[in-house]
Amino acid sequence: MTNATSTSFRTQAFIDGAFRDAQSGETFVSENPASGRPITSVACGDTADIDLAVKAARRAFEDGRWSRRSPTSRKTILLRFADLIEANSEELATLDALEGGKPITDCRDIDLPDTIKTVRWYAEAIDKVFDAVAPTGPDALGLIIREPIGVVGAVVPWNFPILMAAWKIAPALASGNSMVVKPSRLTSLSAIRLAELASAAGVPDGVLNVVPGTGAGAGQALGRHMDVDKVTFTGSTEVGREFLHYAAESNLKEVTLELGGKSPSLVLAGPPDLAIVAEQVLFAALVNQGENCSSGSRLIVHRSVHEELVERLAAGLAEWPVGDPMDPATRIGPMIERPHLDKVMGYIARGRAEGARVVTGGEQVLESSGGYFVAPTIFDGVTNSMSIARDEIFGPVLSTIPFDDEAEGIRLANETSYGLAASIYTTDLDAAFRVSRALRAGVIGVNAYSEGDITTPFGGYKQSGFGGRDKGLEAFDQYTEKKTIWVTLR
Ligand code: NDP
Repeated sequence: MTNATSTSFRTQAFIDGAFRDAQSGETFVSENPASGRPITSVACGDTADIDLAVKAARRAFEDGRWSRRSPTSRKTILLRFADLIEANSEELATLDALEGGKPITDCRDIDLPDTIKTVRWYAEAIDKVFDAVAPTGPDALGLIIREPIGVVGAVVPWNFPILMAAWKIAPALASGNSMVVKPSRLTSLSAIRLAELASAAGVPDGVLNVVPGTGAGAGQALGRHMDVDKVTFTGSTEVGREFLHYAAESNLKEVTLELGGKSPSLVLAGPPDLAIVAEQVLFAALVNQGENCSSGSRLIVHRSVHEELVERLAAGLAEWPVGDPMDPATRIGPMIERPHLDKVMGYIARGRAEGARVVTGGEQVLESSGGYFVAPTIFDGVTNSMSIARDEIFGPVLSTIPFDDEAEGIRLANETSYGLAASIYTTDLDAAFRVSRALRAGVIGVNAYSEGDITTPFGGYKQSGFGGRDKGLEAFDQYTEKKTIWVTLR
């Protein structure tokens, strides 16, 4: 299949180099959240299919068809993989827009270029990282070497389907591991196609397997499998907790969790041009319709600029049209599914009931489309005790909290169980560094909303996750074991 707008989607599991139906014969329906209509049926893998995929991955790992190749040889194949993603990027962008309700412009201009960059960067990096030699005396040689962990399970979410898969697949494969990937049942198609492209690029059979299915079925089976050495997970804090149980109750596999967030945009007294601040604060809150773990969903703003900034934000919403994700002008697509729409609308109702003021938005829109659209919503007069300030809503909802002095701003920003990201706006260089240091979060953007780029690690403090970082050379630590070889010299 070459054209995502045709009906011939790849919908089976990809195991040991071949497409397969689920052994049970079960399928699930993939739905277009912009219309509520079905797109296609996808193989619903479960424990048996995960087991088959893990066995294939284990065989591939043990016989060394990938794990014992030279880094340069893996690099060559992964660069070919990146080229194939690039050659098929229009199709892959369309798959994520169709299933995920993501604006096609974002898929084309952000997700796919970042995916390609990710695969190229890890391919290029792997034959340039060196291991270490311990500072011994002349009577010993201490080598500290990195080796692939073995079979890696990756469980990924629906909000950035292909990019989150690439953040895991690229460093794990570059390091020599074999993998079993479980995409979200809401967005499986791009991951399945990725496995096919990897195979076409020369990744050997069994090295990259993709098993679509439900979280409770395939996801849990991967988490509990006795022959999976590591699980890397991106998703909700609740399910992240489950993976710790699975590991504890099975083989103590290593677990990396990249979880939710409730990230602040902290606007200090004396900010830069408020037009720029408003643009960045809206981008932080609304990009990917707020379905973003590092979403800047809390605006914590100094009272001296509070009123003017809120006015500018409301006016700036004209630049954020809600609509059909396939329309290049759309910047806000639908919520991923009906239950998620209900969850977001429930939070908006709770925000009102708790006494916050809706500045703009607050309602479901475009209902006649059959899709799950929410108007971008700005709340003012929010306090940190309200649920809209505490919980990850994962929708286009911004909560505004004013403050009077820097210490109070920092306290409010840190008063959350999460710690993924934060942005600070100030023209005072000292304040920028002082406050960056004081915030308990993994990624700080100064005078812009930014997660850095592929060279910088991404991950959170507190309940936003632990056990390693995605992105950067740090991601290699997730997918490698360290071995000491001590040679006694006589
Ligand atoms: P989940 O954490 O439920 O899903 C993430 C992945 O985990 C999916 O592949 C999912 O499969 C799988 N999964 C779900 N339940 C289990 C389980 N019991 N055992 C093993 N795997 C499981 O996130 P949701 O998609 O339901 O979103 C819920 C909330 O999570 C959002 O509202 C948001 O707050 C947060 N979230 C955070 C993300 C982030 O980037 N940090 C990304 C997505 C969500 P399945 O396909 O069945 O759902």
